[in-house]
Amino acid sequence: YNAIPDGYPQPGKHVIYDDSETIDLDNVPLNGGILFKILVLSIDPYLRNRMRDPSVRGFMPPFVVGTPLQNGGVAQVVRSEDPTYAAGTYVSGSFLFQEYVVANASDVSGLRPVQTKGKLTLSAHTGVAGMPGATAYTGWKEYAKPKAGEVVFVTAGAGCVGATVIQLAKADGLKVIGSAGSDDKVEYMKSVGADVVFNYKKTKVADVLQKEGPIDIYWDNVGGDSLDAALVNCNKHARFIECGMISVYNGGETYQMKNLNYIYQFEIQLHGFIVLTLVPKYPEFFTEFADRVASGEIKYNEDVTIGLENGGAALEAIQRGKNTGKSLIAVADY
Ligand code: NDP
Repeated sequence: YNAIPDGYPQPGKHVIYDDSETIDLDNVPLNGGILFKILVLSIDPYLRNRMRDPSVRGFMPPFVVGTPLQNGGVAQVVRSEDPTYAAGTYVSGSFLFQEYVVANASDVSGLRPVQTKGKLTLSAHTGVAGMPGATAYTGWKEYAKPKAGEVVFVTAGAGCVGATVIQLAKADGLKVIGSAGSDDKVEYMKSVGADVVFNYKKTKVADVLQKEGPIDIYWDNVGGDSLDAALVNCNKHARFIECGMISVYNGGETYQMKNLNYIYQFEIQLHGFIVLTLVPKYPEFFTEFADRVASGEIKYNEDVTIGLENGGAALEAIQRGKNTGKSLIAVADY
């Protein structure tokens, strides 16, 4: 991490690849810890939030300029002095953006062994069976309160979170409206079961919701004019699940909300949440839901960037909506 971005994060400027340090894999002291070989690192929209001026408040601490970025990933234990994690074990956890990491198990947040089974691949543990999938699953369980026949609107519906929400909503018998920013993404939303799909760059959100709504649930990944359109096109007691607002992550002109007064008029329930808070309440995500992924019932797609040196480009791409599916870096063969 090289500099705080003032707009979109640019590879080579805000994020650089530095290969000046090497680790002697055979001899590096472990001090009771583990040598991990990083296989996959997750690229998520919120990383931009951590690339901020330290004086600005946020839900996670800002990254420190001059140190590696950090995020969820999958690794293999190469050497270990920790009896819980034998050499060869595959794990997921939060790792520095490096090819190898030496750490004690207690210093890797979320560290746990992972397995593969059917469609539940190693990389899926960074996506549909990992943090973004858990976001969809736990947020939906906690706040959607769905009734068959109700109408839900999902933005960024072709991303990992959005596409998982679409499938959960269909399984609960809802009519699903999904929006995304390209025609390919629109097709993808249809392929995972959405009933009404559109490209918000070509069609006005408000027009679609007026025709296909009113909505009972809004799963918000973007904020801005989509949220404004949802407010004015919802039913009384609608649930708004405020998962993300990517339209404001990268600065630029901020959309001026016009319809906030509908929050009280329609007695809307607004639920903002962070996945880490909800996960402990839904342990079945790691068992029952993972089995639904393994069986192919819950579908997902991935956008794989090869090599840590290309991680900066992936970071910019997800902010610009250039990713199709779960964005991840294949740091090594897996
Ligand atoms: P996605 O793969 O969906 O990537 C983000 C997508 O957002 C882009 O591909 C792009 O798709 C869309 N986008 C970018 N800019 C805009 C814009 N200005 N207006 C509308 N859409 C835009 O990422 P995830 O599935 O990982 O995450 C989806 C959302 O969930 C994000 O907002 C993220 O921050 C949030 N999140 C929240 C968590 C929580 O704990 N609350 C945890 C994890 C994720 P398109 O081409 O369709 O525009």
